[in-house]
Amino acid sequence: MSRLQIFLNQLHQNYHRPELLSSDPLEFVHRYDDPWDQEVVALLAAVLAYGNVKQIRRSVADALHRMSLVSTSPSQYVRELRSLDFYRIAEPEMKGFIHRFNVGEDLLLLFQLLSKSWEDHGSLGAHFLSHLEPDSLHVGSALESLISDWRSWQTSQLAHRKSNRSFSYLLTSPKEGSCCKRWCMFLRWMGRKDELDPGLWTGSSRLARTFPEGRELKAHQLIIPLDTHTGRISQYLGLTGRKSLNWLAALEVTEALKACDAQDPTRYDFAISRLGILDVCQKSFRVEICQKCDLLSVCRYSKSQNRKLKRSG
Ligand code: SF4
Repeated sequence: MSRLQIFLNQLHQNYHRPELLSSDPLEFVHRYDDPWDQEVVALLAAVLAYGNVKQIRRSVADALHRMSLVSTSPSQYVRELRSLDFYRIAEPEMKGFIHRFNVGEDLLLLFQLLSKSWEDHGSLGAHFLSHLEPDSLHVGSALESLISDWRSWQTSQLAHRKSNRSFSYLLTSPKEGSCCKRWCMFLRWMGRKDELDPGLWTGSSRLARTFPEGRELKAHQLIIPLDTHTGRISQYLGLTGRKSLNWLAALEVTEALKACDAQDPTRYDFAISRLGILDVCQKSFRVEICQKCDLLSVCRYSKSQNRKLKRSG
């Protein structure tokens, strides 16, 4: 076992814990039992996962509340959006929703696209898996295809509905070089199954009956959701030498994590991101904090800062 693996496993043990779910938008998915409700809520929570976590959780709760005013469940809401009559009822309730760059109208359009995926494929999982070959090394090209489908539906079939430029912020594609953090996080929730990740697109899910024959999302195909926290700490650990946190950096970090767990490289993601979200790892070197960190022995940044301190001291 490598040193990196030993210390990452230690970090995983300490931070990959259900009691820390309250610091993550994934917690909303655990409030629902029905897999279609979970698919809607996971998509909502993932696409809004930019900004600080308190703001994200407030916005997800706000959107779910607005949906509950006109429908009995998130999945019912999405199904009913196929009807123009229901859209006219739902639209005023979503007016006033705002999450940084996005507004309520963006969510209505997102849910209409989801509704069409359900209508055509049975679930979003089935739609995504229709693009993912069982022997694909990773989810990249399937994600590009899903986003491309949704963009073309947005401009053709759904063109009669209002849309605005802020919506495009919700649909990111590896094709354009983006690390697609929110979509990779959503896919991690779909492709991993444990006490945190619901694994809705794995073979044991209740959605599996909608999937194309022999298809499921496998943990080894996932790509790390690279955000400001995981990106910075990945750089500290030497998992990527790239300054820009783009798709290539996400592939590089995932490959490096495969040296620690070839079948499930993103299992470390929740734990690594807790270091940033819970403000355990701050942006400057702090001896008193770093000394208690599980990653101290493998953190190149803390070593270099420590050396500098010693030289100057
Ligand atoms: S050792 Fe310090 S700088 Fe390195 S990851 Fe831990 S808290 Fe962050």
